[in-house]
Amino acid sequence: MEEAHQYSSNHKKELQNDYRCGCFYCEKIFSPVEITEWIEDSLGTALCPSCGIDSVIGEYSGFRITPMFLNAMYKYWFVPEYSNAEQIEVDDEVFDFREIRTEQDIDDLMTIYHGFHDSVIAAVSYRSGYAVGSDRSVDQYGNHNVSVIFHSQWDPRLVELCFENVRKIYINGLRENYMNIIDDATLCFCDITIGDEIMGEMTKHGILWADYSDFDISDLDQSAAEYDMTFILADSLKWRIIEDDN
Ligand SMILES: [Zn+2]
Repeated sequence: MEEAHQYSSNHKKELQNDYRCGCFYCEKIFSPVEITEWIEDSLGTALCPSCGIDSVIGEYSGFRITPMFLNAMYKYWFVPEYSNAEQIEVDDEVFDFREIRTEQDIDDLMTIYHGFHDSVIAAVSYRSGYAVGSDRSVDQYGNHNVSVIFHSQWDPRLVELCFENVRKIYINGLRENYMNIIDDATLCFCDITIGDEIMGEMTKHGILWADYSDFDISDLDQSAAEYDMTFILADSLKWRIIEDDN
């Protein structure tokens, strides 16, 4: 609780690159883009868009922002008789992000989530990393990240994939007579060509997720058009289970 509190001030830069934050005074959960008022202390501290109190904490803190967590924080910081950290337990373990670094990491995710079989993409959220500051200058606050929430008919039901430094994303939108249920997804390491003729091209290691298998990985644009598929190409990937019914 003490550790978490330090993340609720001087956090403007981190919060603006975050996906989700919450207020541990009024216990509302919201997107950082809803924050409009900041205390201009050394690095900027958010005021809650709902209650106006400076008790906003984001997921960059490493704590998962859930109603349970916010309630535990509220009791610890605002209700005197609860101010004993040992009495409040926050079950965070199951929600930790796991990095995909090796083929074994890919196999583990594909095994745990059944190869994305019988799952759907429920939500996609994109952060470019850029923002226009109050002085109207463009600044880069963070990475180009895409977070994708999957729902599965199996367990675990909800999983989040967070792609870091996204190079290319192609989302297949609404189609008639099609449920968007994934049968067989692809998750593999691949080479990404970056740069251009003027700057010079170079190849780097990346990771590819696609809601289809058995396509030509060397020509993603053509494959996406040909097979009506969704894909995301990024420098790296981390993932976590959001909800496990077990
Ligand atoms: Zn609030």
